[in-house]
Amino acid sequence: MSTIFSKIIKGEIPSDKVFENERILAFKDINPVAPVHLLIIPKKEIPDLQSVSSEDLSLISEMVVVAQQLAKEFGVEDGYRLITNNGVPSGQQVFHLHFHLLGGRKLGALG
Ligand code: 5GP
Repeated sequence: MSTIFSKIIKGEIPSDKVFENERILAFKDINPVAPVHLLIIPKKEIPDLQSVSSEDLSLISEMVVVAQQLAKEFGVEDGYRLITNNGVPSGQQVFHLHFHLLGGRKLGALG
């Protein structure tokens, strides 16, 4: 099912883009919880990490490489967190796979 992120990919909703190629888009989170809070998403509609299939693995690898590049670009390569929420109990709100790249402050314990 399409989400607000599909509208962002199509340009129907504006976003503060920081990276884009044919397969991946990254943009600033609208409600940042850290000085650097980026969202890295595949353009392919994949609802969550649990739905990733073996054919998507190169896409996931590419998302990680994009995260590495953005961490450098935003000056947080020495300390950042790359997380994805999977499912309602984890706090997932948008059911289009995304990695949160968080940095720029001391990050607390996971919980
Ligand atoms: P989740 O809770 O699903 O892991 O994270 C969804 C994230 O998407 C949240 O951090 C939220 O602030 C962000 N978000 C939701 N709607 C929009 C939007 O329209 N634009 C942007 N840039 N971020 C959004």
